[in-house]
Amino acid sequence: MPAKQNHVRTQAAAVAATVLLAICSIAAGEIDFIVESATELPVAYDADVLVVGGSLAGVEAACAAANEGASVVLIEDRSYLGYDLCATQRLWLESDEKPLTALTRAIFGSRAVATPMQVKSALDKALLEAGVSFLTGCYAVDAAPGGVLMVNRSGRQVIGAKVIIDATDRAAITRCTGAAFRPRATGPEEFKFVVVGGRPANETPNRKLHVVYTSRNNEYPVYEYTLKIERSGSGFRPLNGIFHKARSLTLTAGVADVSERLFHIPQDSVISSGTPGESWPGADRVSLDLFRPAKVKCWYVLSAYSDLPRRHAARALRPPQWALIGQRIGRAAADNARSAKRRVRIDGVESNSKPGRLSIKRPGGDTRFRDRQKLKLASRSLPVLGRFDVVIVGGGTSGAPAAIAAGRNGASVLVMEYLDELGGVGTTGMIGKYWYGYRSAKGNNLNPGYVSPKQIRSGTATSVLRNGYAGEVGDKFGGSWKPIAKAEWLRRQVLASGGEIWFNCFGCGVVVEGARVRGVVVAGPFGQGVALAKTVIDSTGNADIAAAAGAETRYGVSKRGDLSVQVAGYPRRNLEDRYVNTAYTMVDDTDVLDRGHLLLWGRSRQTKSYDMGQLIDSRERRRVVGELVLRTYDILNARRYPDTISHHLSNFDAGAFPTSDMLLVRDMKGPAYVCDLPYRCLIPRGVEGLLTTGLGASADRDAMTLIRMQPDLENQGYAAGIAAAMAAKADVDVRKIDIKTLQKKLIEKAIVEPRVLSDTDSYPLGDRRLKEAVAELKDLKIEINQRRDSHDRTYSALAAVMSHQKKSIPLLARAYAEATEPNEKLNFALVLGVLGDRRGAETLAKAVSDSPWGRGCNMSSKRETANTFSKVDRLVISLGLTRSPKAIPVLIEKLKRLNAKSALSHVKAACIALRACRDPSLAKPLADLLDKPGVSGHSQAADYHRPADKKKTPLSITKRATTGDLLNAKFKELLIAALLLDCGDADGKARTILETYTKDIQGHFAAYARAALDGKLVR
Ligand SMILES: Cc1cc2nc3c(=O)[nH]c(=O)nc-3n(C[C@H](O)[C@H](O)[C@H](O)COP(=O)(O)OP(=O)(O)OC[C@H]3O[C@@H](n4cnc5c(N)ncnc54)[C@H](O)[C@@H]3O)c2cc1C
Repeated sequence: MPAKQNHVRTQAAAVAATVLLAICSIAAGEIDFIVESATELPVAYDADVLVVGGSLAGVEAACAAANEGASVVLIEDRSYLGYDLCATQRLWLESDEKPLTALTRAIFGSRAVATPMQVKSALDKALLEAGVSFLTGCYAVDAAPGGVLMVNRSGRQVIGAKVIIDATDRAAITRCTGAAFRPRATGPEEFKFVVVGGRPANETPNRKLHVVYTSRNNEYPVYEYTLKIERSGSGFRPLNGIFHKARSLTLTAGVADVSERLFHIPQDSVISSGTPGESWPGADRVSLDLFRPAKVKCWYVLSAYSDLPRRHAARALRPPQWALIGQRIGRAAADNARSAKRRVRIDGVESNSKPGRLSIKRPGGDTRFRDRQKLKLASRSLPVLGRFDVVIVGGGTSGAPAAIAAGRNGASVLVMEYLDELGGVGTTGMIGKYWYGYRSAKGNNLNPGYVSPKQIRSGTATSVLRNGYAGEVGDKFGGSWKPIAKAEWLRRQVLASGGEIWFNCFGCGVVVEGARVRGVVVAGPFGQGVALAKTVIDSTGNADIAAAAGAETRYGVSKRGDLSVQVAGYPRRNLEDRYVNTAYTMVDDTDVLDRGHLLLWGRSRQTKSYDMGQLIDSRERRRVVGELVLRTYDILNARRYPDTISHHLSNFDAGAFPTSDMLLVRDMKGPAYVCDLPYRCLIPRGVEGLLTTGLGASADRDAMTLIRMQPDLENQGYAAGIAAAMAAKADVDVRKIDIKTLQKKLIEKAIVEPRVLSDTDSYPLGDRRLKEAVAELKDLKIEINQRRDSHDRTYSALAAVMSHQKKSIPLLARAYAEATEPNEKLNFALVLGVLGDRRGAETLAKAVSDSPWGRGCNMSSKRETANTFSKVDRLVISLGLTRSPKAIPVLIEKLKRLNAKSALSHVKAACIALRACRDPSLAKPLADLLDKPGVSGHSQAADYHRPADKKKTPLSITKRATTGDLLNAKFKELLIAALLLDCGDADGKARTILETYTKDIQGHFAAYARAALDGKLVR
């Protein structure tokens, strides 16, 4: 791409924003724009042909263009390909239809109906075989002939292309080109909606199709409903209203699957350069000019918005015909590309308004595409799509209850959800049952601290009488639920409380006024705009909105430069499935490539299932640093607060190595604890007008494993919803609400115990308790003990000491000096070492020298018995953290005994220890370790997203590193290389390895390698 062309031609009028406004519809008098400043963005790809939208015809077009020798890229906003069949649930052939292309034959074979999985996997395979690079989870939000601007979890990037095929559902990007569209119809229009299973809702016209799904001997009939409804305006919100109406009218008990999108042939199609014939000429003869918008060069519209006469469109859009048209357009596009000039550009429209008091902020930290060439983008105006008291981003486990609570407490509410159902992990993630969670029976409440298995068994903690909002869910669904039933119940509850729900909408930035968040930037089927709010709740479970607002966040890398992430999975979905709990890999939720790979790889392994779940089930995500960070030791200290808003009960349910000081000394996975959560953990430090719930809230990563159970996060979300409604009503920052009023409301709802009203902070602990605690540590046992009843005094003693380190260190030092028993001395030395005190270094050094490595742990899906450190590992870590000169020779000797077969826990321990002592003398032994057979060479650069390439070489799905040898081998190589770099490197060995890992398919490895190269591993 010639550098000269890397700029954006700007125009003076706000045409694109006006167009977006037109399609989003805003009430008269409220029209507004927010100006986003000029910026530079990476060019992710530069191809001959770009297909935007992974419909059947879009994929056919991409494959056909690639087969003609064009370099082709395809992007899709959903997590899968084939939205036109799967999201509309239009997965059948009529009795007079036959597949006409190889791809439709691969989908249907000789059957009359396909499962969503058959469609998705056939389309994946077709693109891979044709050598088409493709990305899911990418919203195209702006475009011009020459380029498209996309938004995804890695940030924003540009794709340049000579020819663009707009295969999106609503031709959103074609509108950005200034193409002309016909006027919208007045009067009722026809919308189709499909439901699988259940009884027909007879009051709405429907036909029972000739096809039926069978799963585990159950039969699921398919109903196609036809609704005739007049739109209240143009654009997304009126259509969205019709979608919800269709769902409410047609979902009956027993429904097993449902359309995620309406099927609709709009009147406001694009005006093309073609002239249609009277009768339908057939897919092989229809003029392709009808798909070329007039006066827009090198552009095709491949959706119901093409200029086919409306009377022909319904026939053309049937899968056999539509696939054939896609193929023809792909070939034509490849042909156009041969003579078209390459020029990457997005002529978005420069805003001529001056930035106002509101401005836009986006998340930073895109590590994936940062090495690519940059394109300058002018400032632009984003339309305001609506104004609400409370906007909730993410309608999952904690977000949906937040929306219900805010609505019930009088606020006007919008909940925007990236997927097509509410409920998050508990519904779209297929985890249809509660695990632990705080459940008190009236008058039998549980205090913070340890809960014995006896108490849990005797019913105190498992009582059917569940508390709070989770109690409402429990009353309705009992202990487990069908995901679709709960999702539908949540949807109806939000609507009943007056809220609005936008599915398939992705929160990708914030509107700010100084430090105060005033709204959310949203990408959706309409392009991009802004939803303004008095208060925003970030329930993405990934702190997406807090991160965009500039709040400090934590993810993956510990303060000591170690990398730990919990095991994740991606579940299959059969029609009767309720609970599919997977734990086989790790995934970076902020990385579009990593997520795309897991989705693709997951599908490739489940081709026999009906479908996949919508949500990637990650147990650990990005967390915000809040006004208060809940620490692991706060839980064991049974800490109380003046601002408690929820109670949580679980064990440390960790599928990852611990990183907190306390759990580096001793792991505590077995026993269960109750803990209080203060409101301050929901408030991102330094940001106003924003609350963060769920997995994105403020806690250290080990503490999060205990507070993340669904019933507790549901109650927490509900509390956040009430708080947000209160803040919005008074139009004040979330910090300014009266906490006692909030707590009274929560007591009424039985979310918190009445005692919270009079609770005060139970810190600092008294000197007596600290003395006692130090004395108790002489009995500390470091062996891994995962039993549920393994709690003993030393757990709490350790927590007390760790939470008051300054005061405890002298007490520990004295206890160490006075101890006579070797075991006791070693215990005190161990704790002192982890706290960075070197007085016990000699004892530790001797213990480390005397102990062979022995058995260690790997990262594994066995959450309770793996993913932790052995006793020797802990001694090694502690010795290193003393930073004593005595440590280095002992640790080098230990390092020399590692090899490719060593457990990950040993390598991690050595690296944590040696990073604390960073020294050039370590470079040689580290380089020697990397040279040992089998230690290096494990990085996996992803193949399927390589930049588009003219040669038609089939792509393959890189084997995903699961919780077996490969994942552990990658971890070890990366940790050693990063440490070697910090110690001065050896002939560029570390740098070379790290550079390779920046392209690794696993986002956490890529981000870690990047941070290591940038010298940013240790905080
Ligand atoms: C595999 C697995 C098994 C588990 N097992 C259990 C169990 O058995 N029982 C139990 O009680 N708990 C279990 N848990 C824990 C619990 O389910 C989760 O901790 C909890 O559901 C997380 O809730 P959340 O609100 O933080 O996130 P989620 O429920 O994931 O909700 C986040 C929502 O936000 C949406 N979203 C994300 N980003 C954006 C964005 N930028 N814009 C718009 N929308 C966005 C997502 O699509 C999602 O719907 C399990 C968790 C996992 C992963």
